Amino acid sequence: MSQAVASLSIDLDGIRHYRAIHGLKPKSGPDPFLTEGLDRFLELCESFAIPATLFVVTEDLDDPEFARRIRHAAKAGHEIASHSHHHDYNFSTQSPAEIQAELYRSRQAIRHVVRKLPKGFRAPGYNLSPALKDALVKVGFTYDSSMLPSPLYWAARAAVISGKSLTSRPSASLIGRPKDFFVDGTPHRLDNGLIELPMTGALGIPWIGSLVVTSPLASLVTRIVTRQKAPIDLELHAIDLCSADQVEPELIEVRRDLQVPISIRQRRLERTLQKLVRSRRFRPLCDVAEAYR
Ligand SMILES: [Zn+2]
Repeated sequence: MSQAVASLSIDLDGIRHYRAIHGLKPKSGPDPFLTEGLDRFLELCESFAIPATLFVVTEDLDDPEFARRIRHAAKAGHEIASHSHHHDYNFSTQSPAEIQAELYRSRQAIRHVVRKLPKGFRAPGYNLSPALKDALVKVGFTYDSSMLPSPLYWAARAAVISGKSLTSRPSASLIGRPKDFFVDGTPHRLDNGLIELPMTGALGIPWIGSLVVTSPLASLVTRIVTRQKAPIDLELHAIDLCSADQVEPELIEVRRDLQVPISIRQRRLERTLQKLVRSRRFRPLCDVAEAYR
């Protein structure tokens, strides 16, 4: 694989997942992350001519409007991959039979909408297990992209989840296994033949959308990761590109990213992509995985 490859991926977590992480009660209603956030992401990709990878929580494809957006994205050349069917944070701890059934259902849901089975998977909360890795191969996935080589991310998340466990609003998220975050950050082939395409980090810091849109550290991390020879992946979430206009105040209060005006977040992402497109060729993750088979 040429050293000049980058990927742009997005996890399409809905607003309900963030409410669950922050211990807020479920609330029905329209989801601006999966409408406004997704639309802004697709416009961003179009303006930079980037073919991206969209990790879809496939139960959302039951919504015809969301399915229409995903079909449109696939026709525009983006890869549609699986982010599980239900986005259960405990997914990796389920029995092998339950894991396989969920993965199979997710694959069929994607095939139903885009007429093509997905090759890639990203786990809810980035939590993997040996049973999950085996199941991915058994049901036919080519690659996984769930590893985040960032001990700092794990420690920060564990602190939040532990703090919330002492309150009346515990987080639905899982602390996970720290060893999964002390990992080789370059693409590699696992013993069972699955290709692992980790997300990208540097100095133990995750190079992800929420960092790029909120932190002054982001440009330093971007500078370091762009020097890597291996393919790099900038992982976004739909929340990164959604304004706070239609989001309930109780969620805005606990999300530093939503407190940054959307115009500023968008500009920071655009600047990052401008730097990347000068030195790297963007490929969807399925194409990156092909080179490691
Ligand atoms: Zn997710």
